[in-house]
Amino acid sequence: MDYTIVIGLEVHVQLTTESKMFSSSGTKFGLPPNTQTDPVSLGLPGTLPVMNRKAFELALKTAVALRAEISTFTKWDRKNYYYPDLPKNYQISQYDLPFSRGGRLENPARRDGGGGSGDVRLIRVHLEEDTGKLIHASGGDSEVDLNRAGIPLLEIVTEPDLRSPADAKACLEELRLTLRYLGVSDCEMQEGSLRCDANINLHIPKDGKKYATPIVEIKNLNSFRSVERALAYEADRQYRKWLDDGLTIDQAHKETRGWDEDLGITKPQRTKETAADYRYFPEPDLVPVVVDEAWIARIKQSVGELPGERRRRFETEYGLSAYDANVLVEQGQDVADYFDEAAKKTGEYKLASNWVQQDVLRVVKERKLEIATFPVGPAALADLINRIKRGELNTNQGREVLAKMIDSGESAEAVIEAGGYRMVSDVATIQAAVEAAIAANPKAIEDLKGGKKKPDAVRGFLRGQVMKATGGKADPAKVGEVLEAKLSEILAS
Ligand code: MN
Repeated sequence: MDYTIVIGLEVHVQLTTESKMFSSSGTKFGLPPNTQTDPVSLGLPGTLPVMNRKAFELALKTAVALRAEISTFTKWDRKNYYYPDLPKNYQISQYDLPFSRGGRLENPARRDGGGGSGDVRLIRVHLEEDTGKLIHASGGDSEVDLNRAGIPLLEIVTEPDLRSPADAKACLEELRLTLRYLGVSDCEMQEGSLRCDANINLHIPKDGKKYATPIVEIKNLNSFRSVERALAYEADRQYRKWLDDGLTIDQAHKETRGWDEDLGITKPQRTKETAADYRYFPEPDLVPVVVDEAWIARIKQSVGELPGERRRRFETEYGLSAYDANVLVEQGQDVADYFDEAAKKTGEYKLASNWVQQDVLRVVKERKLEIATFPVGPAALADLINRIKRGELNTNQGREVLAKMIDSGESAEAVIEAGGYRMVSDVATIQAAVEAAIAANPKAIEDLKGGKKKPDAVRGFLRGQVMKATGGKADPAKVGEVLEAKLSEILAS
């Protein structure tokens, strides 16, 4: 099937504020229905909205970080439609003068040659308020919960730059990571604070012409996995439909389809309203917002290092591979900060990366801990790494010491003293252990001489015997040296 998949995402993100976009009720998730409402979010007559400045600043911070162009003058509009979860019969949104336009999101897929299309361009980022939620009971009754009505939402719309379901998923994951680094949203898809719709159609070449299929907007994408699955399903469905009816983009309306997670299919919903159906007009109850250069400059200073910048710094400054840099950055800012501090304190960047990835993160995951409350802080880990580097401990001893540090919360020094962990580098001791191991394993020596077995496996076995004889305390590099010297003597004789 020789066609191009064209995908654009429309993402709604709940901003982390204490109160709603235009009123003072709270925004906590999971409270009993209709306990976070007030006359404004209930849409009662005579109420007036007041803009949440914090929400506007978080939105500005996001747009600045995404390299969007910030409008110096922006206003609010009413998007009119009737639905039971929208008591005012309109949503306050932004239409022709959004607070930002353009922008771009770095696409990590491009970095590993994963078929990405470079940066994903953004069309716009605007602010609006959320609606309530309908709960359909089994008896056929529906109830409405307006806790969510009026919660600040950022709508981020990409250009149709994405070229595969995996590309779309990667873009959404990078967006979530970026928003979390910015601290503007918790981006919990299960709690609805990150919601994604996807527009998709196909460009199909045939007989020197290109046919574009009608655009479909897919709703109800509640997880990263469903984003990828739904788009893959829909691309295939559109191709089969085109083979069947040959309809192209100018012969059919845009269609809205919902993703059915259980059946693994998209189903038709309503025909999509066009902008004219919403009868947008300026919101008369809110003043426009004027954003001056000083404000933008202040916001710019609040934008820290973003995931893309951090990956690059870990590669260039610390010499990590793209893979390692990505693993550390993708775990979130807390983990990246932890590694950063440990790396700076030891100067052993690659070692620090290995210890954080293999040892620290493993325990964090196994014990369901948070890196922020991990019993061994970055400085304590750096101290342990330095001791290994200086030859006080070998790596296995280091692992044992770390395990005890995690359990006891004590320093490496204290654990080493109490447990008698000192690496044995004394050549005479190691030589004695090597000779004993060789004497005790004549079969291994025969195998080496006869060249029957894999020599590396035999050498590894002998090294293991020497380590065992020293209680695991020997310097593995010295063991290797001494053993090799001894073996070449024997093999040459
Ligand atoms: Mn919207």
